[in-house]
Amino acid sequence: MEGHIVISEEDIRRRLKELGEAITRDYRGKDLVMVGVLKGAFVFLADLVREVDLPLEVDFVAVSSYGHDTVTSGVVRIIRDLDLDISGRHVLLVEDIVDTGLTLRYLVDLLRAREPASLEVCALLNKPAARKVEVEVKYCGFEIPPLFVVGYGLDWAERYRHLPYVKALEEGDRKPINNEGNR
Ligand code: 5GP
Repeated sequence: MEGHIVISEEDIRRRLKELGEAITRDYRGKDLVMVGVLKGAFVFLADLVREVDLPLEVDFVAVSSYGHDTVTSGVVRIIRDLDLDISGRHVLLVEDIVDTGLTLRYLVDLLRAREPASLEVCALLNKPAARKVEVEVKYCGFEIPPLFVVGYGLDWAERYRHLPYVKALEEGDRKPINNEGNR
């Protein structure tokens, strides 16, 4: 399972420290709300907030894109909205991965309409080669080639979110769960 690691646990840890430092520097003295996009960003957000040395609040949105497997359909729908009122606040949207950009475009438009003081994006992974619409990612963990990846929050058919690293999905990963203890 560990054979085709794209980003190791150690690389993630190191990069998160850098991102946390940049966010801490940029948002000092500002009323910061970090918004995770469920489910994929739950691991990234949990680790990232612990690298930000500022008072902040956390909230979540959940979106679902129609379609399945490894291809994004491009049609996005919100299935869980924010609890917090973000108007006049500094919002940092935290995504797992930006692929076509369609999910992010939808979320940025939705949140911007609520008139936050600022709205920026932090994404763990970015696949610029797959982009269909322009979106600005101010804080980016890693740029990766257009592979389908899993781990560190990212799933295939709800599996592999718990892996502490990011790896490319391989044929053997699509087999049924066999309870033999392999991740
Ligand atoms: P976009 O709308 O930018 O095409 O896609 C964003 C969403 O598609 C991500 O939040 C994620 O849920 C899913 N996605 C895109 N690429 C990958 C990938 O390589 N692996 C996984 N597991 N999900 C992906």
